[in-house]
Amino acid sequence: MSNKNLDMNKDEFISVGKNLIEWAANYLENIESLDVLPKIKPGEIKNNLPQSPPFNSEKFDEIISDLDEKILPGITHWQHPNFMAYFASTASGPGILADLISSTFNSNGMIWKTSPALTELEQTVLIWFRKMLNFPESFKGIVYDTASVSSLHAIAAAREYVSLGIRENGMSSTNKLRLYCSEHAHSSIEKACLTLGLGLNGVKKIPINDKFEMITDELEKAIDEDKANGIIPMCVVATIGTTSTTSVDPVDEISKICQKQNIWLHVDAAYAGVTSMLPEMKKYFTGIENADSIVTNPHKWLFVPIDFSVLFIRKPETLKKAFSLVPEYLKTNEDSEVENFMDYGIQLGRRFRALKLWFVIRYFGVEGLQKRIREHIRIAQLFSNWVDESEEFERLAPVPFSTVCFRYKPKSINDENKLNELNEKLINKINETGRLFLSHTKLNGKFTIRLVISGIRQEERHAKEAWELIKNLASNL
Ligand SMILES: *Cc1c(COP(=O)(O)O)cnc(C)c1O
Repeated sequence: MSNKNLDMNKDEFISVGKNLIEWAANYLENIESLDVLPKIKPGEIKNNLPQSPPFNSEKFDEIISDLDEKILPGITHWQHPNFMAYFASTASGPGILADLISSTFNSNGMIWKTSPALTELEQTVLIWFRKMLNFPESFKGIVYDTASVSSLHAIAAAREYVSLGIRENGMSSTNKLRLYCSEHAHSSIEKACLTLGLGLNGVKKIPINDKFEMITDELEKAIDEDKANGIIPMCVVATIGTTSTTSVDPVDEISKICQKQNIWLHVDAAYAGVTSMLPEMKKYFTGIENADSIVTNPHKWLFVPIDFSVLFIRKPETLKKAFSLVPEYLKTNEDSEVENFMDYGIQLGRRFRALKLWFVIRYFGVEGLQKRIREHIRIAQLFSNWVDESEEFERLAPVPFSTVCFRYKPKSINDENKLNELNEKLINKINETGRLFLSHTKLNGKFTIRLVISGIRQEERHAKEAWELIKNLASNL
């Protein structure tokens, strides 16, 4: 920064930086005065921006004023405590600051030599994280951007595990392969199969029980049927915390089937995985030690800014076998002693993401993180009780974590189509207020409203206000 003709000079960097830190702090402090959902029509933001880049340098003040006037109005505020849609994901102060330092280093961790601290901090912090989750030592962690990409790599390792020369000869050289998951598995599993050449027909969706959990007898039946037809069972994906209802597949039973048949078991716990930190939630993770891989996202419910997903894998050498390809210019003297992360996936370059998790774990401590997650679960259970006690609302799924599935069901209406219309109207009314953001799903044909508590700024009062707003709007329908 010494030569002001090349980059922004130090004094300007400090003064703009201080302003932006203040901007960020004020944004977070005043976030509740903003509507969580912007009242914006498609194209409105774009039409308000110049269609060509500035030829001459612009003042930073102008950039910041456009941030306020042109960008902020089009932001959906994920950091808002009334964001209770999807799986609400928030960034904490220490996580935000870590991103600043990560960009300051601008290290690229493709191999150990290109930034030893990046590699070794990532290794260390993932050992911390594994210990926090009480996962066995046999699991080695690796960071990817999202759960979709973590699962893609796990499934690629599963494909390598069946060892049919696919690495050399591609998919056309083998019999048809199959992956099994429940009807409620995340769409990213099917996308991984699209990418890896199994195709959508390479995925068999196993039926679920009335609690939206995979029926293991059906899984066994499907595997036997495929084997009888010459199809090779390649992978089973179990979910702890499905996307619609947060149901938990019986991982223990599934793992026994997988062990017996020697099939790779991948566990998708993108949202719920962090609850493995709480002794009272361990019951949902029984059998996890027998999984081959498991994904969980600190960027979802651990207050680490997006993106940050962790894949724990028991056979890292299989993943490496699937992806390692070292060109001459990336060979180094240390290769036999170190881990080069490029060997474990499709990407070469990698951000210094470990800083975010390191800052967050150290700042809050394991106990502080446990307390926050436990409180979210408590508030969601409270909300679930309010639904159960109400004569006008109905809960549509169990609530193992912090997600409540429910619908408005006035006593006078029994027609399912009418109820679907009514609930769709209700969620639209809720979201139109801008004060609360909820999302929906369909369960057994029923339009279902979902409410999630997992944000760092969420307190009991936000759930209470949400419940009052929902009841109020419902009674005025
Ligand atoms: C959120 C979620 C995903 C996808 O996560 P990304 O990080 O956005 O790819 C996959 N599976 C489950 C169960 C999820 O909750």
